Amino acid sequence: MSKEIINIDAIILHHVDYKDNDVIVTALSTSGKLHSIYARGIKKLKSKNAAAIQPLMHSHLTLFKGSKQMDTLKHAQYIFNTVEGFNDYDKMLTAFILADMMRKQCEDQIGADPQLYMLLKNALTVLKTQSNTLVLAVYLAKLLQLNGQHLIVDGCGMCGKHHINYISIEHGGFVCHSCLKHNDVYQVSSDGLKLFRYINKVNIEKIDMINFVDDDVSNTLKIMVAFYEHYVGIKISNIEQCIKE
Ligand SMILES: [Zn+2]
Repeated sequence: MSKEIINIDAIILHHVDYKDNDVIVTALSTSGKLHSIYARGIKKLKSKNAAAIQPLMHSHLTLFKGSKQMDTLKHAQYIFNTVEGFNDYDKMLTAFILADMMRKQCEDQIGADPQLYMLLKNALTVLKTQSNTLVLAVYLAKLLQLNGQHLIVDGCGMCGKHHINYISIEHGGFVCHSCLKHNDVYQVSSDGLKLFRYINKVNIEKIDMINFVDDDVSNTLKIMVAFYEHYVGIKISNIEQCIKE
C-alpha cells in the first residue's frame, strides 16, 4: 500500500536534532495546523532539502502522512525567508520568540486555526519596520484573544465606569479605584493605560509607535507577559531579554 502524500505551505518554527543526520521539524501550515515532521539526512552536506526547512523559512513541503502524530518529509521547496533583511541580534531573537510562542500555543490548541498562521506571518512582516517590544506586546494580546481571553480595556471590569486607575490581572484588565479589592495591581500613567488599550485593540498589521515612548511600551510588554502566563499558563522563554529595566 502506498503512503498518502500531502502538500502544505508552512512556516518552519523549530528544529530538534535526531540521530546523526536527521531532524524533527515543527512547522505551522497556512491552515493553522501544527505539523511534526521527520526529516531524514538533513544534516548531510549534500541534502537538497536543508535550506528550505531552516527555522523561520516559509516553504512548500511534500510529506508522507504518518500513521501517528508525525509525518515524514519527502521534499521541501523554499518560498521565502520570513526574516530576510533582519540584521540585528534583537530582531532575530524577537522573531524566534514569536515562533516559539506560536509553537507552544498550537501544541495546546485543538484543531487548526488559520488565524494563528496569519498572526505569525503578519507579526514577522511588521517586525521588519516596527519596535520589537510593541510587536511582542500586540502579539501576546492577539494570542490571548485567539485563546478566548479578551482583556477588559473599555472601562472598569467590575462597574463599567470609564474612570480607570489600574490594570489588574485578577479583574482581567482595567479596574477603577472604588472596585479595587486587592493591591496586586499595576499602577501606570494615563499614557500607559492608553497604550494598554491600544495594544489590545489594534490590528497587528497596523501598529505604529508614533504616540508612544519606549519605556511605556517596555513596561506594557512586561504586563502583557504576566497576563499571558497567568491566563494561558505557558511560560515565555527569553522574553526578559526584550524588556528594558
Ligand atoms: Zn469600577
